[in-house]
Amino acid sequence: MTLKYLHGYPPALLAQVQGLIDAGRLAEVVAQRHPEPAAIRNERALYDYVCEMKARHMRSAPPLSKVVFDPKLHILNNALGTHTAISRVQGGQLKAKREIRIATLFKDAPADFMRMIVVHELAHLKERAHDKAFYALCCHMEPDYHQLEFDLRLWLTARDIGGG
Ligand SMILES: [Zn+2]
Repeated sequence: MTLKYLHGYPPALLAQVQGLIDAGRLAEVVAQRHPEPAAIRNERALYDYVCEMKARHMRSAPPLSKVVFDPKLHILNNALGTHTAISRVQGGQLKAKREIRIATLFKDAPADFMRMIVVHELAHLKERAHDKAFYALCCHMEPDYHQLEFDLRLWLTARDIGGG
């Protein structure tokens, strides 16, 4: 099988992942590392959670107009969520309307991964590209960001294998 969520990681690391898959232990290993279950089940709770994180880490970024779960959002490679900044003229003023969409599958993900994806999307309020500045911002909000993103990719891989 191809490790489509793990593109770009070092071959030695991927060999370890393949070893866990072959042993049928990938899901179990991820669950052990991230035991705290999902807690955000609806958009009201999601909105509050995102706004609270924004207030803590990204106070200066423009306010969010919308935070939603999106069942059509599929997670591939670097596209972990979407973030749109729609500019429109309103009453003679240019206003930016900012939305964050989180894939619905995060409702069932360990709490650590919800935190990671929200950090990721909040960082996009300031940095568009997945570049050094972007990841520096992610790590400022969540020091364990890179490990969490890798583990999320493991979780997605295990979920596909499980037929979920
Ligand atoms: Zn992104």
